[in-house]
Parts: sequence; structure tokens; C-alpha cells
Amino acid sequence: MDVNENKPDTLLEVVGLKVHFFTDEGVVRAVDGIDLNLYRGRTLCLVGESGCGKSVACRTFLNIVRSPGRIVDGSILYRKDDGTAIDIARLDPKGDQIRRIRGKEISMVFQEPMTSLSMMHTVGDQLCEALSIHFAMTKDEAREKAIAMLGRVGLPKPDRTIDEYPFRLSGGMRQRVMIAMALMCDPNLLIADEPTTALDVTTQAQIISLIKELQEQFNMAVLYITHDLGVVAEVADDVAVMYLGRIVEYGTVDTIFHTPKHPYTRALLRSIPRIEIDRTELDPIKGMVPSPFRRPTGCPFHPRCESVMDRCRTTEPGVYDLGEGHSARCLLFENTAKPEEVEK
Ligand code: SF4
Repeated sequence: MDVNENKPDTLLEVVGLKVHFFTDEGVVRAVDGIDLNLYRGRTLCLVGESGCGKSVACRTFLNIVRSPGRIVDGSILYRKDDGTAIDIARLDPKGDQIRRIRGKEISMVFQEPMTSLSMMHTVGDQLCEALSIHFAMTKDEAREKAIAMLGRVGLPKPDRTIDEYPFRLSGGMRQRVMIAMALMCDPNLLIADEPTTALDVTTQAQIISLIKELQEQFNMAVLYITHDLGVVAEVADDVAVMYLGRIVEYGTVDTIFHTPKHPYTRALLRSIPRIEIDRTELDPIKGMVPSPFRRPTGCPFHPRCESVMDRCRTTEPGVYDLGEGHSARCLLFENTAKPEEVEK
């Protein structure tokens, strides 16, 4: 991946980002040097098993790392509409600058609406809060915009739903409220953290197509975090596969699904049940994700890798450029990589 390539529509450029958690038991390298670009109008899916660091990475883009976590290195360059750029990683998490960006220019749909929405306040109060923080709007104007947004995300009777409390709504309706809340200020980047995990398949499909539709309307960049490869195939333009805090493969959705190179990506794809393949047993990835306190030496995937070589146990692989925006962090490609290889 060429992170230095300054495409005109680059919205967020993440370089060498590291977020570590300093616990009594030791340091957890939750995000350990990731590079990625987000583009206006495009969707990037960040995939990987639970605990790979994808949610921590995305919270970091809003500078909301929970204690005892800390950004220890790297930059998150956000290009504003006026052409200026700001490094989110350097901002005070409680300062005015990030508050002006968070919720307005970059917003997030969290995984679980029941824990992210307040049950003590009406939908309307929660939707209008962002408008009152970021725009000089009267109460009536804010309410009108909130009703329009509830309608836009497909909630029936938005003029009544606005006065409901979230606990009186179904899971699908609450998720739509979360999306409406995230879109109230017309953000440039929408981060959606497993937004459909808790939903039934029909509602899941509706939410996915809703996000796509709204992306076209707002020309937003969308960062989708999921472990569901079916969702990835549906929504992604680009895919970054994460393992133990690092991106191990990056490419377009077609590349990742049709010519995956990294053994972890290949194993992930094989583990999806497919009805057209005549087999009775699933093909899970062998072994378990290692404890973050006992990170394997060399390539961290080596204890589970079917292509492991002797030197994988001692040598950390760099990122190898496989051409056309496709890259993999695996020693199998060290002799085939292009000269512009990026060593991390
Ligand atoms: Fe497997 Fe070695 Fe590649 Fe790691 S570097 S993914 S262990 S082949």
C-alpha cells in the first residue's frame, strides 16, 4: 500500500498508528503500526477476528481511546473541506478542535444501540443534541431536521418516533436511530462498528442498503468494521484484514475475495460456510488468537499458519507491495514484492 500517494479525494490518511494499553499485567499492543487511507465516496472494510484491534483503531480515529490505552506513535491526517489537514492523533482528546470534528465531520455508529443510546432521553433530545453543539439552530429548526433524518433512515411515523424513548423501539429501529444520529451533521466520514451484528438478516440487509444510499447522497467515506465476510462482499470497495493489531493484507474487495495472498486471509475466506461447496464440515482457522500478553515471536500468525516456514518463527514480515494497491505482510512474498515495497 502506498500511503504516501496523495490522491485528491483522500479524506483520512493513517500512518504508522500505534495504540497500546498499559495494564498491570503488561502492555497490550492493540494497534501496532497500521497504515491506511480513506477516500471520499468509498467504503473500506476493516475485518478480522475479535480482539484484532479493529474497534480500537476506529475509536482512535475519533480520538476516544479508553484508559489505560494511549496513542504512542503515528499520525491520523484528516483533510478538511477547506483543504487544510489536521493530525487527529496530536489533538487533546477533550479539546475544542476534536470536539468540532467528532460527531460533526467524523461520526460513528456504535455496535450496540442499547448501550450507546440513553434510555432516559427521547430520540429527539439525543438527535438534536449534536445540532445544538455544532450549529446555531433554534429548537424548532433542529426538531424539523431530526424528523426529516428519521424519515430518511426509513423509520415509520418520524414525527411520533422523535418523542419516543429508545427502550420502546425494536432493535432495528434503534439501530436506525443510531444511524440518523450519526448523520445529523452530514459527516464526511461515517465509521460503522459492526452496525448490523445484533440484527436479524432482513433488517441487516435494509441497514446495509440504507448506509450505501446515504453514502451516495452525502459522498461520505465509510469505514465499516465487521467480522462478517458476507457483509464485506456486499459493501466494500477496499478491504484491510487485521491480525493482532496489524494490517496483514490490503486490497480492493475483488482482489481480496478472488486472489487473497496472506495465509490468514485465505483461512478466513475458507472458514465461511458456502452452500455451493459440497462439504459437511466447516473449515475453521486452526488454533486460537494468542493472548495479547504472549505475542508470538517473528510473524505473529506463525503458530496458526499452514504455510509457516522456519524463519517465520524469528523474522517479523514487512509489508510487501503486490501491485495495483494490493499488499500483504507475509514472508512468502519478500522475493516477489515490487521495489517500492514499504518496510514497517
Ligand atoms: Fe505464514 Fe510465515 Fe507468512 Fe506469517 S510470514 S503468514 S507464518 S508464511
